Amino acid sequence: MIKKIQEKTGRAWLEINLTNLRHNAQQLQKLMPQGCELMGIVKANAYGHGVKEISKELSRIGIRSFGVATIDEGIAMRKQGIRGDILILGYTDISRTEQLHRYQLIQTVIDYDYACRLNRAAKKAIPVHIKIDTGMHRIGIRAEDEGLVQEIFLLDKLKIEGIFTHLCVADSRRETDISYTQRQIASFYTLLSQLKQLGITLPKIHIQSTYGLLNYPELQCDYARIGIALYGCLSNDKDETRMQPKLKPVMELKSRIALIRDITEGEEVGYGRGYMASRYCKIALLPIGYADGLPRSLSGENARVLIHGQQVPIIGRICMDQLMIDITDVPEVIPGDIVTLIGQDEVDEISAVEVATQAGSITNELLSRLGSRLERIYIK
Ligand SMILES: *Cc1c(COP(=O)(O)O)cnc(C)c1O
Repeated sequence: MIKKIQEKTGRAWLEINLTNLRHNAQQLQKLMPQGCELMGIVKANAYGHGVKEISKELSRIGIRSFGVATIDEGIAMRKQGIRGDILILGYTDISRTEQLHRYQLIQTVIDYDYACRLNRAAKKAIPVHIKIDTGMHRIGIRAEDEGLVQEIFLLDKLKIEGIFTHLCVADSRRETDISYTQRQIASFYTLLSQLKQLGITLPKIHIQSTYGLLNYPELQCDYARIGIALYGCLSNDKDETRMQPKLKPVMELKSRIALIRDITEGEEVGYGRGYMASRYCKIALLPIGYADGLPRSLSGENARVLIHGQQVPIIGRICMDQLMIDITDVPEVIPGDIVTLIGQDEVDEISAVEVATQAGSITNELLSRLGSRLERIYIK
């Protein structure tokens, strides 16, 4: 049964704007050189936005490759009818090799030993992309080990469709970080030319994620793996990037006032007596908490929400399922009124990056953790 809008917006919910998603994808595609395709990174439930609707919308505008973190994310997409290439960017246990076949997923080869084990476990050819470590030292075969990479091309059950690397300081405009990134890029291309000299026909290549594209847009690749920018934000508040496409936030987080009460001067509010009223005040309860993904670390950080277009503070500690706000300065508020925790209300706006920064994190973490209990509403 499809839930009615009123039921979905009774407590706390996300409004996901698919028109803005489309806009962002198109802006980002404009930055890419001819021949480079946008790979939509939809891991972690499309950074909390809902993988089914996000992938379907991206498919509608012609995007046909996707990246996920786990095999189960890939399987879920196939079951939801998503076509096109789905690349698993991380580790998949060898016991699940059969499912890679069944759901036509592309696996990342995370090191040489893994390639051999996958090859042994496979009954039919498995499409893979080889990950090359050029300096992040997380997963991948070292770019210097061209002999090992060559051997992977000789394994009979692996069908090598791609080879890629990942940049670890592409967001930084510091000189030392730029030269680190340039060395990463150079060692990747050196490896590729060595492979060519060994007679290997190169598969699809890719390097950039969001910051790679925004700071190094001139790289000639077959794909750019774009996550956070598709959702209309950057990871950090202070990031200055070379390219600055006009991105529109895709997600808004909202809740409704459940009750309003009076607190007199000197009374305390919430766990740990975390807030003491220094004057008579009117406070309101919002039925949303850290179990919904709103970081508890926002407590005491002067975090704000929007109501009737005005900013009011969150007071005391954020609870698992509830939080309190001080509405003394907006006297016309009544129970049922909508409160914006991320998004725009009249002329004021609270951005995801602002909230993430206040919580001591980045938008990638904030967004991907939202929505364990929140309803999602899709808007076009
Ligand atoms: C998550 C991820 C991306 C997307 O990163 P964004 O910064 O969100 O664009 C790209 N590549 C890999 C390997 C990833 O794990």
